[in-house]
Amino acid sequence: MATAPKKRIAIFGSTGSIGTQALEVIREHPNLFEVEILTAQTNDALLLKQALEFKPNAVVIGDETKYESVKTALAGTDVKVFAGEQSLEEVANFDTYDIMLAAIVGFAGLKPTLKAVQKGKLIALANKETLVVAGDIVMQQALENRAPVIPVDSEHSAIFQCLVGEARNPIEKIILTASGGPFLGKKPNFLVNVKRDHALQHPNWSMGAKISIDSATLMNKGLEMIEAKWMFNLKPEQVEVVVHPQSIIHSMVQFEDGSVKAQMGLPDMKLPIQYALGFPNRLKNEFPRLNFRKYPSLSFEEPDLKTFRNLGLAIEAMKKGGNMPCILNAANEVAVWAFLKNRIGFLDITAVVEKTMEKINFIQTPTLEEYFESDGEARNFAASIMKF
Ligand code: NAD
Ligand code: MG
Repeated sequence: MATAPKKRIAIFGSTGSIGTQALEVIREHPNLFEVEILTAQTNDALLLKQALEFKPNAVVIGDETKYESVKTALAGTDVKVFAGEQSLEEVANFDTYDIMLAAIVGFAGLKPTLKAVQKGKLIALANKETLVVAGDIVMQQALENRAPVIPVDSEHSAIFQCLVGEARNPIEKIILTASGGPFLGKKPNFLVNVKRDHALQHPNWSMGAKISIDSATLMNKGLEMIEAKWMFNLKPEQVEVVVHPQSIIHSMVQFEDGSVKAQMGLPDMKLPIQYALGFPNRLKNEFPRLNFRKYPSLSFEEPDLKTFRNLGLAIEAMKKGGNMPCILNAANEVAVWAFLKNRIGFLDITAVVEKTMEKINFIQTPTLEEYFESDGEARNFAASIMKF
C-alpha cells in the first residue's frame, strides 16, 4: 500500500506556547508531518534551535535587528531566512506547505492567516483574534477559496468534534465551558489589587502571557464566543457560556432534539493541536489519559458578569457586530500589554476597553481596510487614555 505523503506544516508563531506544543506533536509523528515554515517575533535562540532540529524550508524572524545573526547561524544549512512583518505574508504565499498553524498572538496574526486562506490552505486556527476582528471577511474568503478552517482553541475543537457526522442537523445552541480562571469566586475589592504574576497563574492551562491575562479577566471567553459565532455560523443568542472549573468538558453542542453532545479530555492543548493537524484522523499517542475516578464531580455555574465585566463587554460587541469586536480586541490588546508591564491595574483593563468602545466610530459593514483603520484608531485612543 502506498503511504500518504507527509503533510507539510507552516507554524506561524512557533516559539510560543501553541507553537512549541505543535512541534512536540510533530516530533511524535515523523512519518505524518514535516515542518516547512517556522516564524517567531523576537526569540531568535529558540527559533534557531527549532530550525536546526526540524530543518524547515524557511524561517521568519519578525525583529529585523536579528536578521543577520539568524542568517549567520543558519549559513551552511538549506534554510531560507526572512525578517520583518512583510515576510510573514510573503512566506504565507508559498505553494510548498499544506497546513498553516496560525499561532501568532493577537491582531498581528490576521494578515498572514488571510493570505493562507486566499491560497486555499488548510488553516489550523489558534489565533482567535483573526476571527474576532474580521470573522465575516475571513470566513467568506475561506468559503470562496475552499480553505478549511479547523479550530485549535480547545472549546472550538470540542464543538467541531461534536459536529462530526451531524452535517444535516442544525445546531440549537453551543455551550462554551470556561474554567473561570485564577480568580473564580473573587470580587472587585480583591481584583483591584491583583498583580501581574498572580494573574498569570492559570489553574488548569499553561499558556502565553496575553491569553493568560484574558483568561483571568474572562475576556478570553468573550473572544471565544465571537470566534465561535463566526466559525460555526451562529447567531449571538445561540452562543452560551457556563463556568466549569475542572476543564474536563471542553464544550458542548445542543441539537434541535434537545440532545447535548460534549467532548471531554484532560486539559492539554496538544490534543486539539493534534486533532487539527491530523484531521480527519485521530492519531494514536501516549499522552496521559483521563481517569474519571480522579474527577468525582464535574460542576457548572453561571459566569459572574458583574465582577468580570469584560465578558459582558464582549457579548455586547458580539451583538452589536460591525467593527465593535475589532475595537474591543484592539483596546484589550493594548490594555493587557500595559497591565503586563505594571502600568495599569487589573480592573483598568475593563475601563480602557469600555471607554474605547464608546469612543471609536461604529461601522456596520466594514471593509478589510476599515477593520485595519478601526484597529489603529482604537489602539491610539486606548493608549492615550492610559497616558503613554
Ligand atoms: P505566545 O505568546 O506563547 O506565542 C505567540 C507567538 O507569536 C510567538 O511565537 C511569538 O514570537 C509570535 N508573535 C508575537 N507577536 C508577534 C507579532 N507582532 N508578529 C508576529 N509574530 C508574533 O502565545 P500563545 O499562548 O501560544 O497563543 C497564540 C495564539 O493561540 C493566541 O491567539 C491565543 O489566543 C491562541 N490560543 C492559545 C492557547 C494556549 O494554550 N496557549 C489556547 C487556545 C488559543
Ligand atoms: Mg480556549
